[in-house]
Amino acid sequence: MTSSALHDRIRDNLAAVRARTTAACERCGRDPASVTLIAVTKYASEAAVQALYDLGHRDFGESRPQQLAGRASRYPADVRWHLIGHLQRNKAALVLPIVHRIHSVDSLRLLRKLDEVAAAEGQRISILLEVNISGEASKDGYSANAVVNEWADITAVTSVDLVGLMTMAPLDADAEQTRAVFHGLRRLRDELAQQGPWPLPELSMGMSGDFEIAIEEGATMVRIGSTLFTGVEETQG
Ligand SMILES: *Cc1c(COP(=O)(O)O)cnc(C)c1O
Repeated sequence: MTSSALHDRIRDNLAAVRARTTAACERCGRDPASVTLIAVTKYASEAAVQALYDLGHRDFGESRPQQLAGRASRYPADVRWHLIGHLQRNKAALVLPIVHRIHSVDSLRLLRKLDEVAAAEGQRISILLEVNISGEASKDGYSANAVVNEWADITAVTSVDLVGLMTMAPLDADAEQTRAVFHGLRRLRDELAQQGPWPLPELSMGMSGDFEIAIEEGATMVRIGSTLFTGVEETQG
């Protein structure tokens, strides 16, 4: 694929995702500007990521800390890098100076580690708790019960800003099951925000196959990979 063909293809894919986002927002009376599109680049080639950057896109998501760090080192500092995959505690210090948001904090131990590393660096870090709303055994994430039960410990951190919640619908879920998962995340967020001390404005939910449902259920960040890069050669993730 020539670089101009690749650029055109990515431009068209991005425009299509934006049009679908706007249509979903119109259906539920939301402002499209209230939904941040995170381009998930975990399987994308360097040329495809560069094309998105050249088109003015600035929010990128990676699921592996090491790959995120590598990519971040090759792009200007105006990129907002989102870590959306599992983080081991021993990689906390690696990603802390680079990431804009960590969406995938799934345990109190990890949360406390991030708090400790951020405090030591005199830095603050914004994170979301990943919640396994569906209760699917194969999924990472806090159970909704654990978040509620541990809320006093969670809110005791001092260098971490908890800005919201993240979830994924089960792969084999139909539209109604998917909607129930996203709705459940929103209700949990409302309940926790009510308790305080954080307003929890962000809901990170929705991927290529279900982002319109997520927007209808209140997503403020959608994480989209395959639909953005369709028709473009992919690397082996
Ligand atoms: C890969 C990934 C995505 C993007 O998935 P697509 O179906 O390719 O859009 C979103 N969120 C997470 C956590 C992912 O790992």
